[in-house]
Amino acid sequence: MTELEAAGALLEIAVALPVPGTFTYRDPRPGVAAAIGAQVVVPFGARTVTGFVVGRAASRAAGGGGGAELRDIEEVVVGEPAFDEAMIAFGRWTADYYQAPLGEVLRAALPQGEQATAKRAVRLTELGRRSLERQGTLIADAPRDPLLGALADAGGELPLGRLVKLHPRARGALARLAEAGLVEIGDEVVRRRPAPTLVLAVATSGDPGALPKRAAARRAALAKIVAAGADGLPVASLTASERMHLRALSMAGLARVEHRPINPSSPMSPAPPPIAASPIVLNGAQAQAVETLVGALSGGFASYLLHGVTGSGKTEVYLRVIAAARRAGRGALVLVPEIALTPQLAARFRARFGEDVAVLHSGLPPRERLAAWRRLRAGEVGIALGARSAVFAPVRALGVVVVDEEHDPSFKQEEGVRYHGRDLAVVRAQQAGALAILGSATPSLESAHNVERGRFKRLALPERATPRPLPAVEIVDLRRHPPGPDGLLSAPLAEAIGAALAAGEQSILFLNRRGFSTVMLCRGCGQVVRCENCVVSMTYHRGRGRLCCHYCGRTTPVPVKCPSCDSPRIERLGTGTERVEAIVRQRFPDARVARLDRDTAGSGAARDLETILRRMQAGEIDLLVGTQMVTKGHDFPGVTLVGVLQPDQAMDLPDFRATERTFQLLEQVAGRAGRGDQPGRVIIQTYRPDHPAITAVVRHDYAGFARAELDERRATDYPPFTRMIALRLDARDAAEAKAGATAAAEAARAAGGAAVRVRGPAEAPLVRLRGRVRWQVWLSSPDRAPLAAAARAAARAAKSGGDLRLSVDVDPQSVL
Ligand code: ADP
Ligand code: ZN
Ligand code: ZN
Repeated sequence: MTELEAAGALLEIAVALPVPGTFTYRDPRPGVAAAIGAQVVVPFGARTVTGFVVGRAASRAAGGGGGAELRDIEEVVVGEPAFDEAMIAFGRWTADYYQAPLGEVLRAALPQGEQATAKRAVRLTELGRRSLERQGTLIADAPRDPLLGALADAGGELPLGRLVKLHPRARGALARLAEAGLVEIGDEVVRRRPAPTLVLAVATSGDPGALPKRAAARRAALAKIVAAGADGLPVASLTASERMHLRALSMAGLARVEHRPINPSSPMSPAPPPIAASPIVLNGAQAQAVETLVGALSGGFASYLLHGVTGSGKTEVYLRVIAAARRAGRGALVLVPEIALTPQLAARFRARFGEDVAVLHSGLPPRERLAAWRRLRAGEVGIALGARSAVFAPVRALGVVVVDEEHDPSFKQEEGVRYHGRDLAVVRAQQAGALAILGSATPSLESAHNVERGRFKRLALPERATPRPLPAVEIVDLRRHPPGPDGLLSAPLAEAIGAALAAGEQSILFLNRRGFSTVMLCRGCGQVVRCENCVVSMTYHRGRGRLCCHYCGRTTPVPVKCPSCDSPRIERLGTGTERVEAIVRQRFPDARVARLDRDTAGSGAARDLETILRRMQAGEIDLLVGTQMVTKGHDFPGVTLVGVLQPDQAMDLPDFRATERTFQLLEQVAGRAGRGDQPGRVIIQTYRPDHPAITAVVRHDYAGFARAELDERRATDYPPFTRMIALRLDARDAAEAKAGATAAAEAARAAGGAAVRVRGPAEAPLVRLRGRVRWQVWLSSPDRAPLAAAARAAARAAKSGGDLRLSVDVDPQSVL
C-alpha cells in the first residue's frame, strides 16, 4: 500500500461537466471510501462540482481540473449510491460510443430530483438525531427543538434557504447547534434530496416484564412490534396512541426507532403483484410470437423485430411476454415515442399490471417522477414505461426491453448527450442478458438491415387483429384534381369527409405543418419574412395574431409592408394545421372539429391534449386535424377516414431519410383508419403520385419499399451501409463558426485518411438558429473505429477557445 492510499482511498470520478475523461481524487476519510455509484462533491479547477464515483483508481494520475496535484473529494452526498455497477458500465458504454463525458451521461440518467444541486445545506448529524430521539420527539408531537425537528421531518437535511424561510431566526440558532455538533452546515456544497428512509419501530426485547400490569394497551403495542420481528414495523402504520406507547417503550428500552435506508441491493420481491387476466384470445400469429419470445426469455440476450402491421395487436404481445418475465421475477423496460400521446398504452399496462408499473412521464411533477424512479430502484415496482430517457430507468433484474414504434425519430436525443434510445435499449438488454423486442409496422431501415444481417430475428404479425383489413388507400393527383376554392381540399376528399360525417363516423386530416399559413411572401421583391435569429421563414398564427418562429419561438407582429423592400404587396402563402381547421369548420359547420399539434398540446396544455384524445376516443369529435401527432399509435375505433393533405414537402427535405420518413408517416397515419367495425379509407392528395413512398403506401408494401430503399442506400453509400458521425459547430460570430468547422474538417481528414469520407465543412440547412451560426462536417465510414477516431481528432482541433461550440452527433438522425 502506498503512502497516499494509506491516507485515503483513490477514486475514479466522472464530473458532470463537458470535459472528456475521468479524474482521480482521494477520499480523505481514513478507513472509509465513498461507494461506487455515489454522488460526490469535488473541487475542479477553481470550481466545486458534482461528480460520480465510477471506480477505484489504481494510481494518482489525472487530478481534477488539470492540476497535477491529487485533490480530495469534499463530500459524499448522503443517501444510497445513485447507480449500481451495471448502470455505470452502461454509462461507460454510452459515453464511449456517443463521445460524451461519462459524468454528463450519468447526470442525464438521473431524474432531476435525484441530482445534486448547488446549495448550502444544513444536515442533521448522528448526534443531532440521537438527541432528538432521546426527546422521543421523532414519534410524538411533543415540544422539541424546532430546527432539529424540521430537519428530521425533511429526512435529515434541508437547503439553508428553505430552513430560514421556515424559521426566520434559524441563522442565529444554527451556529449554536453546529457548535454543539447537532447539525452540519455545508459551505456552498452540492446536495441532492435525501434518500428516502423508512422509519421503523423495532423491538429490542420481547420481555414485557418491565411494564406495569395495568398497561394493557402498551403491552398490545409492544406485542405488535415484537410480532414484526427484526424487520420492524413502519411507524407510519401505527395509530397515534400506539406512537405514544412506542415513545414510552423506547424510554423503557423495550423498543427503538430506526431510520433504515431503502436498500437498493435487496433482491426484487420474487412475487410480483397479481397480473390481471387478458380478455383477448390471441390469434395464430400473436400466439406464435408470444411463444417464441417467452421461450427466449430464459436464453440470455437476443433481439427480435416484431414487425406487425398497424392494428395487428403488438401491444398484447408485449403484455404477455412481460407477464411471463414478471412471473419469473424479472423486470421490464418499455420505451414509447411520446408517452403523453399514448395514454391508452399506459392505461393498458395499468389495467394488466396495476401498481407494478412506473410510468416515467415527462409531464409528471418532478416529485412523482422521482418517487417512481426510486420505487423501481428499490425493486418495489418491476415495470418501467416511458420515453427515450427511460432507457436509464433503474429496473431490477432486467428480463425484457421493449421499444414500441421503434422507427420513431423521437427516440433520438437531439441535444446534450445525443443518444438514440432504441439503440441504447438493445445495448442495455445485451449487458443485462435480457430479451430486446423492437416493434413497428414500419421498421427503420437500420432494423430491417439488422434482420438481413442476422442480428435481429424477425417475427411477423401480417394481419390486423380486429375483423377489418388494412384500409384502402386512394391517391388524389392534385394536377388533375386541383384543390378547391380554399386551396386545400380536392373534390374527392371533400366528398369523402361529407360522407363520413353523414354516416356518423370520425375522420382525421393530417398535415405536417402547424400554424395558419406557412409564410409571408412579398410580391414586390420575392422575399419571405424570416426570423432574425434563425433565417427560417416565420409562420403566421391566427390564434395569437402574430408571426412565430418554430425554431426559436420568437414572435413578431404581422408586418403590413415588406421588411426588405417596404412594398405593401405582402401576402400569406401556404397552409398550416390552424388554417386547415378554420377551413373545415367553415366547410362543415355542423361537424365537431378539434386540432392536435404542438400549439394545442404544448407543455402548458397537457390537459388539452388529454381532453382531445379522450373526446376522440369517446366519439365526441367528428374531425381531428393535426400534425404528425395524429399519426402516432392511436387506437380510435370510430375513425374510418384519413385524409393526407400535402406530403410533398416532407419528401423534399434535404435528408437521405426523407423518403423513409415520408413512407413511415403515411403508413402510420393510414393505420389509424378502420380499426373498428367499419372498414377504413385513406385519401392522399399529392402532386407526386409516383413517388416511391406513395406507391408503397397504396399497396401497404413495406417489404417492397424497404428492398428498394435499401438498394438505394447501398448504392449511394448511406446508413445502414455505412456509419456516420456529424460534427455540429456553432458560434455567434459567422467567421468563428466557419473557421472552427474548417479546422474540424481538416483534422478529420488527416486522422481518418482513406478509411473515412469527410463531407464539408458546410453551412447547416438552418444556418442561423437562436442567434448562432451553424456549420456541419459529415464523416462516414463502414468501420466504426477510424470513424470515431476521426471525430475525436476533429473535436480536439476545433475545441480551442472563444464562443465556438462543437457537438459530436453519432448516428445522426437530422440533417438540419
Ligand atoms: P398495434 O399496436 O399493433 O397497432 P394494438 O395493440 O393497438 O395494435 O391492437 C389494436 C386493437 O386490436 C386493440 O384494440 C386491441 O385490443 C385489439 N386486439 C389485439 N389483439 C387482439 C385479438 N387477438 N383479438 C381481438 N382484438 C385484439
Ligand atoms: Zn419585399
Ligand atoms: Zn427563430
